[in-house]
Amino acid sequence: MRRRDFLRNSLASLPAFWLLPSLLGSSCSSDLRDRAAEKSVLVIGAGISGLAAARELRDIGFNVKVLEGRDRVGGRLRANRELGVAFDEGASWIHGVRRNPITELAAQAGMNSFYTNDESIASYDLGGVKRSTADYLQAEEAFYEVFESLHEQGSPDKSFAQLFAERYPQYANNRLWKFFLSTYIAFDTGDLDLLSSKLYYEGEEFGGDEEIATNGYDTIAKHLAEGLDVLLEQRVTKIDYSQIPVVVTHNGVESPSDFVVLTVPLGVLKSGDISFEPALPDWKRTAIEKIGMNCVNKFLLVWDEAFWDDVQYISYTPEEPDQYNYFVNVKKFHPTVNALMTFAYAERARETENQTDAQVLADIMAHLRDMFGPTTPEPSRMLRTRWLSDPFSYGGYSFTAVGSSMSQFDDLARSLDDRLFFAGEHTHREYFSTAHGAYLSGAREAEKIIQQIE
Ligand SMILES: Cc1cc2nc3c(=O)[nH]c(=O)nc-3n(C[C@H](O)[C@H](O)[C@H](O)COP(=O)(O)OP(=O)(O)OC[C@H]3O[C@@H](n4cnc5c(N)ncnc54)[C@H](O)[C@@H]3O)c2cc1C
Repeated sequence: MRRRDFLRNSLASLPAFWLLPSLLGSSCSSDLRDRAAEKSVLVIGAGISGLAAARELRDIGFNVKVLEGRDRVGGRLRANRELGVAFDEGASWIHGVRRNPITELAAQAGMNSFYTNDESIASYDLGGVKRSTADYLQAEEAFYEVFESLHEQGSPDKSFAQLFAERYPQYANNRLWKFFLSTYIAFDTGDLDLLSSKLYYEGEEFGGDEEIATNGYDTIAKHLAEGLDVLLEQRVTKIDYSQIPVVVTHNGVESPSDFVVLTVPLGVLKSGDISFEPALPDWKRTAIEKIGMNCVNKFLLVWDEAFWDDVQYISYTPEEPDQYNYFVNVKKFHPTVNALMTFAYAERARETENQTDAQVLADIMAHLRDMFGPTTPEPSRMLRTRWLSDPFSYGGYSFTAVGSSMSQFDDLARSLDDRLFFAGEHTHREYFSTAHGAYLSGAREAEKIIQQIE
């Protein structure tokens, strides 16, 4: 499920101007190739943005190396296959397949996907009381109306939670509305009390269906990384861009390069784990501080037999939202796998990071047993994520926090001295927080570097 699903069709006719030269079949002059061959580029981060930039530049002829802190490529495209099925710990969905560059990439990479029908849903209230689909859809429509218009009354210094409480106090204790706020907004943006009431509605969406990856979103990252010079387990701690070449310190080693593309997540930029010489300009530091980094955690549970409805989604509306209130039926796209995927968002997601598996499982089972009865069996296995504690992400993805402005996404993207370039989902004003936004940002920065030698 995704915010502003209803807008998708209106965007369906956008031209495919963002398709990369590599997708269209790149061509460039031999002069350009010769000049590129004399230049070196270090790309920091082997997530989809870094790999997109690296591949594009390599194809033109630059000497490209990718420095990746982890022991694998993909970043927030990460699939755990321990249980015999790909559990995407980061990105799962292609959000709107029409004209989305990920659709084309998925086809090239061999990433399979499955249409997840948002209307195939069973909704449970407390005590396992099942709502009628008509009631659910009616409430959803009313929610969308509010969601679509509330930002008109928003202001930069007021949170979504505050504005909503002021304007719609009648929904404060409505469990279904709390569910919508949680899964349709907090899922994408994190804490509603940190989310801008003015900007929560910003960002664009592609048209077409939502499709979920079935053999792992990292298939795309592995495809993009083929033939690239990627150095793993290279943690970057310092970037000196005071002169040419730029000098990048990784694992205590200093590497010089004509150009650097920095694609580490916003959480890493916020952490201060990487120092800059000279210090980043004030406008860049302000943008790093103001744009928000949310937290979402995912949980995969596997049973010997399925006991739930044969629908795509199961929703549950406890008094306390933001935790285990939304279940994806994995069996729909892996018929032999009896598994559910569920989520925690915002503060509830952060809380889970310090909880043991037993604590997490007890809370998830309490919800499932309320829906399906006290004899609902324990799962045989569970997989989980801890995105906030991960020093290579420090969170899920960016969002428009109270006090931020859209131009700060541009500030995050702005290069310094034509030698230090910035990519990553948090640098894409239209498609921030998504895999496609990250991909497009990498392509954008590659184009900027190519322009330097044209
Ligand atoms: C739980 C979750 C669910 C999501 N669901 C979806 C979804 O369904 N659909 C969708 O479109 N998007 C989704 N996203 C968002 C999507 O995954 C990201 O926007 C995208 O993958 C980000 O790519 P990136 O290249 O910007 O960053 P990353 O993938 O994070 O890449 C940055 C790289 O930098 C590396 N790095 C960090 N610090 C250092 C350092 N100091 N030195 C060297 N390397 C470093 C990291 O290890 C990483 O590999 C989800 C994200 C999460 C976390």
